[in-house]
Amino acid sequence: MTVSQRHVAFLAEMQREFPTFSVERKRDDRMQVLIDRLLKVVTLGGQKSYLTQYHTVLFGKLWVPDSWDRMSDVDRYILLRHEIVHLRQGRRLGFVPMAFLYLFWCFPLGLAYGRARIEWEAYEETIRATDEVLGRDATLALRSWLVARFVGPDYGWMWPFPRTIERWFDAVVATLPEAGPP
Ligand SMILES: [Zn+2]
Repeated sequence: MTVSQRHVAFLAEMQREFPTFSVERKRDDRMQVLIDRLLKVVTLGGQKSYLTQYHTVLFGKLWVPDSWDRMSDVDRYILLRHEIVHLRQGRRLGFVPMAFLYLFWCFPLGLAYGRARIEWEAYEETIRATDEVLGRDATLALRSWLVARFVGPDYGWMWPFPRTIERWFDAVVATLPEAGPP
């Protein structure tokens, strides 16, 4: 398998596990455009990139932003490894309860434990996939980026304690195999 086919092959795997799964463009969907407007309001403009930057699994589909077209094969592959975790969470929890947990528990902004738990599990797979395809240096570079995502406006300030994220990150890295490829 050539490198350029990595994400295509993984997409096929995802469709075998989730036959109704597909990749859809946010901008073409009225509900996604509506969610974008709501997010801008509830985060007071903190999350204004929902349509342009953020990938979202909702009701068994992956909704992609404008930036999807510019992503490399490897970046798409790492992203899909993260998103399949959300599909499995949806299967485990039910897609409606998961949306509730994701959006409302325990509070929409500031200390969203349900959302943070869901994202911790998925970002663990991001860390593992990054280590496999890009190596340890790229993996360690994720640390400060991940802290910023959890404590910042990207997910509505879902977990405002950087130390917790750092400890979680270090614990995941400690379980990685000795040496990945360079
Ligand atoms: Zn996620």
